Amino acid sequence: MKKEAVLIFYGKRKEEEIEVIMVDTEIYSCMDHSCIGWMRKDFVADDLLCPMCGNEMTHEIRELPKI
Ligand SMILES: [Zn+2]
Repeated sequence: MKKEAVLIFYGKRKEEEIEVIMVDTEIYSCMDHSCIGWMRKDFVADDLLCPMCGNEMTHEIRELPKI
């Protein structure tokens, strides 16, 4: 599991810096505030449990790089 981080990537292409587009994304995040577990809605498990600690997760909107 990747550590949660909001990263802006810059790519060198034709000597231009290209910023990744950030979009509001539906996610489920762990209800345990000491846990960093979260999943994009599209990839969340059917039981909606945190992949890291097994706690319940709550629906959220988060700004994430477009995929
Ligand atoms: Zn968790």
